[in-house]
Amino acid sequence: MDCIICDNIADEVGSHLIPASLIKNCVGNRNSEESYNIDSKTANVDIYYGRGNLNNQSTKQKQNHYTRDNVLCKTCEKKLGDLESKFSKEFLNKFRIDKYNNNFTIYNSTTDYEIFEPKKLTNDEVLVYFYSIIYRFCKVYEIEDNDSYLETNDLLIIKKYLHGFLYKNCGNYKEPIQKFKLLINFNKYSDKSKFIATSNELKNPYTFYFCEAIVFLFTKKTDEKAEHLFGEILNTIEQKHTKIVVGPEEFYDSMSDIIARILANDFITNAVNIISDLNKKAYEENLIEFNDLFSKYNDGIDTSAMTKAFDELKRKYSS
Ligand SMILES: [Zn+2]
Repeated sequence: MDCIICDNIADEVGSHLIPASLIKNCVGNRNSEESYNIDSKTANVDIYYGRGNLNNQSTKQKQNHYTRDNVLCKTCEKKLGDLESKFSKEFLNKFRIDKYNNNFTIYNSTTDYEIFEPKKLTNDEVLVYFYSIIYRFCKVYEIEDNDSYLETNDLLIIKKYLHGFLYKNCGNYKEPIQKFKLLINFNKYSDKSKFIATSNELKNPYTFYFCEAIVFLFTKKTDEKAEHLFGEILNTIEQKHTKIVVGPEEFYDSMSDIIARILANDFITNAVNIISDLNKKAYEENLIEFNDLFSKYNDGIDTSAMTKAFDELKRKYSS
């Protein structure tokens, strides 16, 4: 395999698709949290329990599923690793702690989003950090699932920018990506995040859930509605400082609700199909039984109730 950034031999193993420091709250590093990483295509659910969670029967931490072998070369891996450490040190470890407020230019947008602009990270450093995650995530998705999510040509534009920045290329590697816009959203008020996901239902803008960070990518000219809502807080390559949205909390929560609903719908469709295969009953009939059980366990969108209902029906019809 060739390195997805520089086309040399991809000789690195255990490369992170998403930096561990960004997704640590979603993959079981914390003491009393639990989170669900849902593969809605197969109705598989990985449940990560923190060590302090009473449901954690195992003494072993679950493996982080977001690493791959032979996707990057050692040089690209090292360069990205250095950048990720810097972002972690200057942003992830500091933006929720008041005593570091001087490291940021802090203000509210006219639409009342709370903005942090890191002073110790350049615009390119922040944007390369996020574009490289988007790129790795999409390329691996393309290799493994034959579905690139982003258009192939847009991935090439991102690749050119990443390579140009990491290897200090001459020539104008920034030109094609100048039209892209990125919205970067964190939640300053809580570190409880649940989702590492994206969905084909979310393409305008492309929306990525990388645990702590929710990222919108506009690859085409933004329309009036998007400009009105987000115009002021979108990031481009040409600007001097990066605007990172850190509040209000409701914005982050409403974005999280969108993916929760999509994943729940996908999950239920696939789960009911699996049950229909087991018991040969009609989909509609099984859906009713599933929903009865689901509402018995919970009346909201709750992945734990979903999996309980699915497991119970699987057991019932497998025997
Ligand atoms: Zn490389």
